[in-house]
Order: sequence, then C-alpha cells, then structure tokens
Amino acid sequence: MPQLVYSNKINKIRSFALILVFVGIGFMYIGLLTKKIEWLMAIFFVLGVLFVIFSTVVYFWIGLFSVRAVSIICPSCEKPTKMLGRVDACMHCDQPLTLDKNLEGKEFDEKYNKRKYRREQE
Ligand SMILES: [Zn+2]
Repeated sequence: MPQLVYSNKINKIRSFALILVFVGIGFMYIGLLTKKIEWLMAIFFVLGVLFVIFSTVVYFWIGLFSVRAVSIICPSCEKPTKMLGRVDACMHCDQPLTLDKNLEGKEFDEKYNKRKYRREQE
C-alpha cells in the first residue's frame, strides 16, 4: 500500500545542511586528488569551502526557525517535538500534527501552510 510519509520540517532542513557538509568535503577530497593541477585543486577547494559555509548558514537558519517553532508533546509517541507552520509532522514518529482546530481530523496536506490557501479561507 502506498503511504505518504511527511517528515518534520526542521529535520528536513537539518538533513539538507548535513548533505551540504558532505558535498563540501567531497569537493575538497576531489581537490586533493587533483593536486597535480594547481588551479583545478584551488577551484575544488573553494567550492568545498563555499558548500561548508552555506551549510553553516543553513544551520544558523534552522536555529532561528527553532526559536519560532512551537514545542509540543506528540500525542502519538509522547516525545517532545517542534513544529513549524500550521501543519507539520512529529520529529520522532512522523505523526502529522496541526495547531489549527479547523484542520483537525482532516487529511494532512502541505498546502495548509501556503499563504494562498490561507487567503482563500479568509
Ligand atoms: Zn511522535
């Protein structure tokens, strides 16, 4: 049976930042392999450093988001989790969560977070 799995937004951004770090390290590693060609090595190193810097920025950005995120106890696994926006998923068990009473019991949909949808409701 196909199952739609929603993952927590903060977790999603965090894994994105982690991937960036690995990409950065990957570029630097390729740089080491091409050390015979100095300019090529320099390009790979600069790219690597840029990716690592970018991931740091993303981590910082998550930090800002976490402050704005609402901390709740997941009703399903009873662990503390943070959610962003009106609908989000639990960090631990991916249980869809909502802060909006009107959306309770409705099928989880990312569109509830979109501004367009909110405007249509008003
Ligand atoms: Zn949970």
